[in-house]
Amino acid sequence: VGPDDGILAVESLRKEFGGLVAVDDLSFAVQEEEILGFIGPNGAGKSTTFNCVTGTYPPTDGTVWYKGEEVTGTPPHEMVKRGMARTFQSFAPLEDRSVLKNVALSMMDDKLVTMDGLLGEFHDEARAICERVGLGDRLYQTPAELPHAGMLRLELGRALGTDPDLLLVDEPFAGLSGPEVESVSDLLLELRDEGMTLVVVDHNMRGLLQLIDRAIVINFGSLLAEGSPDEITDNPEVQEAYLGG
Ligand code: ADP
Ligand code: MG
Repeated sequence: VGPDDGILAVESLRKEFGGLVAVDDLSFAVQEEEILGFIGPNGAGKSTTFNCVTGTYPPTDGTVWYKGEEVTGTPPHEMVKRGMARTFQSFAPLEDRSVLKNVALSMMDDKLVTMDGLLGEFHDEARAICERVGLGDRLYQTPAELPHAGMLRLELGRALGTDPDLLLVDEPFAGLSGPEVESVSDLLLELRDEGMTLVVVDHNMRGLLQLIDRAIVINFGSLLAEGSPDEITDNPEVQEAYLGG
């Protein structure tokens, strides 16, 4: 893996927390306009990998390239400016602001805008994104008024507000019903068809296989398998680890 392997390339990534090795010598690349599934059981190191790639945590070791440039350890706001966005598994929208304002806030970048000026500048764009993620009828509700699925949609909306080229989505289906999973999957596919690149994390492989072009499977912070959905499903090691043989 090197700088020119796809939109995102990760080489020998390692992240330690004290004595715990959360990510161990992990290398992978993400190709432009694909949906890459990032699969592994709870605690495998998926979110930590996102955190290292997006600058939330500095890696202990390893190299990250984005759009051909080395970005190892670059802070999150800088990565957002370069066109990389991510959603968080546990996230904190501004509780006393509306859905619309929360999405508009994500568009601010480093512009100097007051809370009151915010909607003047970003209203139409923020509203379009809210509609896109299925919150068009909840624009003026606060996050606390949203059902669980609505919160996940808001988190997606806030990521889309930064106008990303690469979107890292952490467990977008957690706690969703079948139809809700399908609806969010359709949205992610639409984004891909418009030219966005996506990495989608899930601990449940079956739910993801319909959606993704390719998957990598990690276990204990290391790469276990990589390939098409069929190759992943047929891989004996994966079957043993995740599908119960
Ligand atoms: P996943 O997202 O695949 O469920 P994580 O990346 O969240 O897994 O966690 C991988 C391992 O790293 C786990 O053992 C977890 O407890 C540990 N870990 C994650 N974040 C931290 C942190 N900030 N401090 C200490 N340990 C952490
Ligand atoms: Mg996680």
